[in-house]
Amino acid sequence: MNTNAAILWEQGAPLSVEAAELGGPRAGEVLVELKAAGVCHSDLHPARGEWPVRTPLVLGHEGAGVVREVGEGVKNVRPGDHVVFCWAPPCGVCPPCREGRPVLCDRLERTTYRNRLPAGDTLLSARGQRLAHYNGTACFADFAVVAEEGVIAVPEDVPFEALATLGCAVVTGVGAVLNAARPEAGAKVAVIGVGGVGLNVVQGARLAGCAAIVALDTRNEPLRLAREFGATDTVEASGEKVTERVRGLTGGRGADYVFDTVGSPATLAQALGLARKGGTVVVTGLARLDALASFPLFPFVMQEKRLVGSVYGSGRPSRDVPRLVELYREGKLKLAELVTRTYQLEEVNDALDALAGGEGARGIIRW
Ligand SMILES: [Zn+2]
Ligand SMILES: [Zn+2]
Repeated sequence: MNTNAAILWEQGAPLSVEAAELGGPRAGEVLVELKAAGVCHSDLHPARGEWPVRTPLVLGHEGAGVVREVGEGVKNVRPGDHVVFCWAPPCGVCPPCREGRPVLCDRLERTTYRNRLPAGDTLLSARGQRLAHYNGTACFADFAVVAEEGVIAVPEDVPFEALATLGCAVVTGVGAVLNAARPEAGAKVAVIGVGGVGLNVVQGARLAGCAAIVALDTRNEPLRLAREFGATDTVEASGEKVTERVRGLTGGRGADYVFDTVGSPATLAQALGLARKGGTVVVTGLARLDALASFPLFPFVMQEKRLVGSVYGSGRPSRDVPRLVELYREGKLKLAELVTRTYQLEEVNDALDALAGGEGARGIIRW
């Protein structure tokens, strides 16, 4: 079939929105008509050449739409179902899957992280060339074919705009708190970087009953949004005496849990400094592929700090996404408020520029 797709022909160049060919769903695959898609730093990094990828490819990995066709043997969804994309479709049989950690599924290294479908190939082409499916999703397009495990059915009464970021930024941020850190009620936390993921860390901490939620960012608008999402205090991260100020806001001891959603060498060192003795730092940010961090080891050991990496919310997306939708319907989780601006697919480069410029929480593409 024909579809419009935002194609990255060359890293560093703008995406080109043009006609592409998309093969129909085969066994275990589904065809989804896109309704909304979030524009994420994980799209920006390959577009700008900060993460190496083989081009040409169709970007986009967080989104929502309607199932239009299912391949042979598909049981989880039917045509007409509203779905959220999951860019980490688990195989279900490898050791991490059997250990209950599907986001670490071994198959992802051969599929999602190589921008292929689980079948091992691509169904997209344009100008006579095969196009890779970014993160096995490629949802900056009118239609996408993904693995059956790459979609999660959701109730039809939730607006697509609210669903757009659920399968990536929301799962990642809320999961970093509820699955990776698991803070006790009354805990004091600090969140470095309150963009799309950081705002969801803030609302995850609120859901967990944290007593102090200190948001740090270098930009004013995200800090204002963080207060709306439940931050009890905000600190301008490039200001003076940041560590002392955060310590003052966390009972004089430092934070029990610090979340680094930026993931740069500088923010990791800062995060470790903000954690109290015995405190935990959870890193979700993936700034650059070649980033190497260094931090003082002596206090790290002497103060028994813990450093934890957290990918895609450290949970089970197929279980967590429906739970998050329930929380939204109960008014306990903000979703639509994450959307700062909407764009047409043809405006995808404007959305990427706005994200690079640090504008607000999330731009989304609407169909
Ligand atoms: Zn994302
Ligand atoms: Zn697996």
